[in-house]
Amino acid sequence: MASKTDRRCLSCEGEMRSIVVMDKTEDSAGTPLQYRSPEDKLGFWTCRYASAGDLSAMMCVDCGLVQLYGKVGDKAG
Ligand SMILES: [Zn+2]
Repeated sequence: MASKTDRRCLSCEGEMRSIVVMDKTEDSAGTPLQYRSPEDKLGFWTCRYASAGDLSAMMCVDCGLVQLYGKVGDKAG
């Protein structure tokens, strides 16, 4: 279900709504997209990227433009 926000589309100034970007894996809706620095390596002991954080996505209801937002300062657990 999409939730309404105050954000406006950069292209047409339409209404932006939260979406879940799904890949073709079995349970993609249950795991948020993430970002990381390109040079970051998977931690041997932690099995994580130290720079990783969650992404959220929004889509314009008028033109379909999709924007991704990284959660700044809120590293994924
Ligand atoms: Zn738009």
